[in-house]
Amino acid sequence: MKYPCALYIHFPYCLYKCHYCDFNSYALKEREIPFGSYQKALLAEWRKRLPHFDPFPSIGSVFLGGGTPSLMPPNDVADLLGEIRRSVFFTDDVEVTLEANPKTISAKKLENFRQAGINRLSVGVQSLNDAYLAAFGRIHSADDAREALKLVRDAAPWRGAAPWRGAGFKSWNADLMFGFPGQTLKQWESDLNEILDFGPPHLSCYSFTVEEGTIYRRQIQSGKALPPDSDLQAEMFEMTGNLLEKRGYRRYEISNFAHPGHECRHNLNYWNYGEFVGLGAGAVSFLYEGTEGSKDFGYRTTNYKEPGRYMDALKDSPIWFDREEIPRETALAEFFMMGLRLTGGISEEIYRRLFFLDAKRPNEPLFTVFRKMGWVGEEGIYLTPKGRLFANQIMSAFLP
Ligand code: SF4
Repeated sequence: MKYPCALYIHFPYCLYKCHYCDFNSYALKEREIPFGSYQKALLAEWRKRLPHFDPFPSIGSVFLGGGTPSLMPPNDVADLLGEIRRSVFFTDDVEVTLEANPKTISAKKLENFRQAGINRLSVGVQSLNDAYLAAFGRIHSADDAREALKLVRDAAPWRGAAPWRGAGFKSWNADLMFGFPGQTLKQWESDLNEILDFGPPHLSCYSFTVEEGTIYRRQIQSGKALPPDSDLQAEMFEMTGNLLEKRGYRRYEISNFAHPGHECRHNLNYWNYGEFVGLGAGAVSFLYEGTEGSKDFGYRTTNYKEPGRYMDALKDSPIWFDREEIPRETALAEFFMMGLRLTGGISEEIYRRLFFLDAKRPNEPLFTVFRKMGWVGEEGIYLTPKGRLFANQIMSAFLP
């Protein structure tokens, strides 16, 4: 495998469960989080996975996500990344991101994370409106978020045009949400403008969704909360793109915007159907194994979700995950679904490399229909601005 792979590390603990959250995360008081045992399990998993690769592919990106990985002691992060770095090759321009909740960082902690090897931060701002933050169970206030944005901006050397020179954080992202029930277009625009004043080189702007099994879903079912207004969300989505493009950002994925050179390499690997290894409770790994003509393209493993079960399995069992083979037909459909998220669409080069020259597009008649509706471009394979509004429906149509 000559292309770098991505490494994801999941930290599943949070101080409170946000009402819209369906991630594999568990709320505990800080003193109850089993930092030491979890760290041991992550290292044990890494050591057990290593011998299965010959050799292990080089690593182009690492992403510590969660949960709230910024709760982790920076020394634990340093030890973990240190051991991984000693056992495999990291590319020279490796991107190492940590997701940070505004309530859990300080200038000192950021500096310690930087020394531990983190070179990119993703700050979970979500909103600069106290009413929405409180209503959705975020543990931070709007002022905490402003303070965190200042800290991160000052810790990152990037100032608009200057390239990264190797000190401080290489880049950073602000994670935002829009379309909360009750939020107006004007409120969202004002939040967005205020965040832009901090000069984030990268922005992720997701529309608020109500997932199965969340606290918010139960509140709607019992009549205590309202569902989001999808028409207003579509207007907000359009306004977001226009405003950010006017301010020099390029939309490179449906919900992600960056100044040139600040695109998230780790997520690009997912959208380009690259290989990745996931460590931690519930983490997913995806690796190719097929050769031309073989039935299966690759396989996916999903670690046990519940952290206690995951940690126990790593202590005394050879298996801590479920494994699923990925037939070529499924892989091709997934590749299309992921690639259509990118503004540039499916990469012909990767398409040929992964599926060989004779690969046929899955569900060709559907493409014709989508083209006629103006949802998919005429040249190449990408979603038009109109198609982006129906992205989920279009992408799920490719599943076998
Ligand atoms: S901080 Fe993130 S992972 Fe934790 S509960 Fe909130 S949304 Fe979920």
